[in-house]
Amino acid sequence: MIISALKSNDSRDSRSPIHIDTIASLTSLGAEILFETEIGSGIHTSDDEFSDMGIQKFSRETCFIKSDLVISLQPPKEEEIDSMKSGSTILGMMNPFYNQALLNHCAKKNINLVSMEFIPRITRAQKMDVLSSQANLAGYAAVIESANHLSNALPMMMTAAGTLKPAKVFVIGVGVAGLQAIATAKRLGARVEAFDTRDVVEEQVKSLGAKFVKIDLGETGETDQGYAKELTPEQIEKQKELQSLVCERSDIVITTAQLFGRPAPKIIDNKTIDKMKSGSVIFDMAVESGGNVEGSIVDEVVLRNGVKIIGISNLASKVSSHASLALSNNFNHWVCDFYDKEKNQINFDFEDEIIKSSVLVYEGKIMNERFQ
Ligand code: NAD
Repeated sequence: MIISALKSNDSRDSRSPIHIDTIASLTSLGAEILFETEIGSGIHTSDDEFSDMGIQKFSRETCFIKSDLVISLQPPKEEEIDSMKSGSTILGMMNPFYNQALLNHCAKKNINLVSMEFIPRITRAQKMDVLSSQANLAGYAAVIESANHLSNALPMMMTAAGTLKPAKVFVIGVGVAGLQAIATAKRLGARVEAFDTRDVVEEQVKSLGAKFVKIDLGETGETDQGYAKELTPEQIEKQKELQSLVCERSDIVITTAQLFGRPAPKIIDNKTIDKMKSGSVIFDMAVESGGNVEGSIVDEVVLRNGVKIIGISNLASKVSSHASLALSNNFNHWVCDFYDKEKNQINFDFEDEIIKSSVLVYEGKIMNERFQ
């Protein structure tokens, strides 16, 4: 079996699907491993360093033509899929909710498609969970970026030149990214408050030394996969009104609220922004899935009444080496767990919950009902 790893084809994404510290688990399989030229240019790793690990360098085109399994950060182009051998497999972050055409094309061309965003939330699969590994780093990066845009320091400082008060940070949405944002802001010395519609996170917020903001929205809850349920329009209005008071007193507001497979809820509107202090910062971590904040724009910093609204996408790429290390581990675990050494091929066992959930296209058929 030939496995190829491709260089990122998005100029805003410096991550690599392989990393020098994790490549040994792939090479130990006994498969032939190829990589696209300059795959490590965004993580300071040369082609020679990868070649020294026993894997071979090829052009992108050759990787597609020769491989049985292609590992890619982003969805490939149609013509790239057309150049692949029938029955081969693409694995990576395929963004399927926005890529139905890719699924249809793979089915037509008999190319199997594994979407790592669909790894189920079960304990056995945590090591493959790309959403969590990248959201964790994104939460960290959001705080660092926000701090860079603030004209105050985050920690309290008592100096001969006066006492500097700690910055106040408000984190809305306490999933994986939100928890890391809270932890990072706390480590930097800020006073942190947080809110989520899932009551279960209150304990987690407190255990990080932050304050949980109580907003009674009536019945909320979560799905069996741990994702938040969508609020009614009335609940959203109530949330906006009550959390507005916390936004007004905050120096940094970080929003991470997401709904799996649906647009992010709009939870900060201009009315709230106009009450905030001039010089304060809002970081909209949901900007790529529609945005939590009115007026936020992907990859731009918008200024409204002195408030900076930041919409940087691809945040994990800001710490590309660590992001690549974590991602490559996620990918490698999937490949190693389902690689059959005797048959020298991937074992697509649809009785397995991870295969059933993550393999969206198999042998010319779309397997996941959401996309059929
Ligand atoms: P996510 O990215 O889907 O959403 C981020 C957060 O936004 C969530 O906490 C959600 O409750 C919150 N949210 C949604 N609407 C909101 C609103 N209107 N106002 C405020 N907050 C709102 O979530 P995630 O980071 O993927 O994590 C969701 C949960 O799943 C977490 O508890 C996480 O720990 C858990 N999880 C479990 C596993 C596993 O068991 N393998 C893996 C990853 C995450």
